[in-house]
Amino acid sequence: YFERVLSLYLIAYAENHWLLQVKDITQTDRLDGMRRDFVANVSHELRTPLTVLSGFVETLQEIDVDTESRQHYLQLMGEQSQRMQSIVQDLLTLSSIESAPPPEDQQVDMATLVDKLRRDAEALSAGRHRILLESEGQGDLLGSESELVSALANLVSNAVRYTPAGGSITLIWKISAAGAEFAVQDTGIGIDPKHIPRLTERFYRVDRGRSRDAGGTGLGLAIVKHSLSRHQATLEITSKPGEGSRFAAKFPSSRVTGV
Ligand code: ADP
Repeated sequence: YFERVLSLYLIAYAENHWLLQVKDITQTDRLDGMRRDFVANVSHELRTPLTVLSGFVETLQEIDVDTESRQHYLQLMGEQSQRMQSIVQDLLTLSSIESAPPPEDQQVDMATLVDKLRRDAEALSAGRHRILLESEGQGDLLGSESELVSALANLVSNAVRYTPAGGSITLIWKISAAGAEFAVQDTGIGIDPKHIPRLTERFYRVDRGRSRDAGGTGLGLAIVKHSLSRHQATLEITSKPGEGSRFAAKFPSSRVTGV
């Protein structure tokens, strides 16, 4: 109730009367804070791989290394630059979703898209998981195909990355006149409930080291949230540590077509 930020300006003072202007700048102040945090986070995220990379460059310049070690260093350097590329790519995706007006709606052929996501899951898993597909009802979505792909593919790749080998990943696509749902259910590491409300914040991770080792940027679910909100869709997350998670994108009936 008291957490408002006000700015006060003395505009005039005359004949024992004050003219004060009081402005509620809570929103602007909050946005400024978010922007500062974001810039600090981006710098930090890029600085880490950059430091490692320049360390290797120095090592290669200073000491005589045999061909095998040289190859090893070059591979590690390649991984760090790949990491920076993924971060920059995700930042660009996020900024285009946030700043550009939504592209004109098209009818997105969901049977084809869901099948492509299943094939993506199989490719990413490379035989380490059981990939299942459950589909109910027929129809398509109205929206931007590229934004839907970037949202739903992120859910799929997270499921693969956070599910140990031997687990299963189920893609569920349900459509009815009441609305549509695309869900990804995994038998992976799960998430402690206290983290769930913050998962869609940029760069928020439950376990930073694990995310980095899994090739994560910490931006995936922020992209999911923004892409979905442009389709008036919501993201529902349910999870149990050690048992698995379910990420469901729910679309209103106004987005469903051809039922
Ligand atoms: P990241 O690139 O780190 O995966 P995301 O924004 O995609 O970033 O996800 C944020 C965090 O949410 C991850 O770091 C991870 O801790 C958690 N998370 C996302 N998906 C899953 C999942 N299917 N199972 C367990 N944890 C997950």
